[in-house]
Amino acid sequence: MGTRRGRERLERCVSCGRAVPRDKAVEYSTRTHFTTDLKEDNVTYTNFSDSYYCISCAKHRGIFEKLKQQAQRRRERDSYG
Ligand SMILES: [Zn+2]
Repeated sequence: MGTRRGRERLERCVSCGRAVPRDKAVEYSTRTHFTTDLKEDNVTYTNFSDSYYCISCAKHRGIFEKLKQQAQRRRERDSYG
């Protein structure tokens, strides 16, 4: 009892389209800024989108490096704050 068998949640690799189990997918979220240049107001919209890559695509596209850089940048920002 208590074993949760069955469906693993699958994510689709945005690069090759393969279905990857959640725990093997590499999550990479990109942030997009939109800035409107109106006279009265400068409005910045931030759009988050999560992308998933399979391991091989993540390696191939340098996602691991990007994630490392993101984490490093975050750490630097924290220590400056
Ligand atoms: Zn892939």
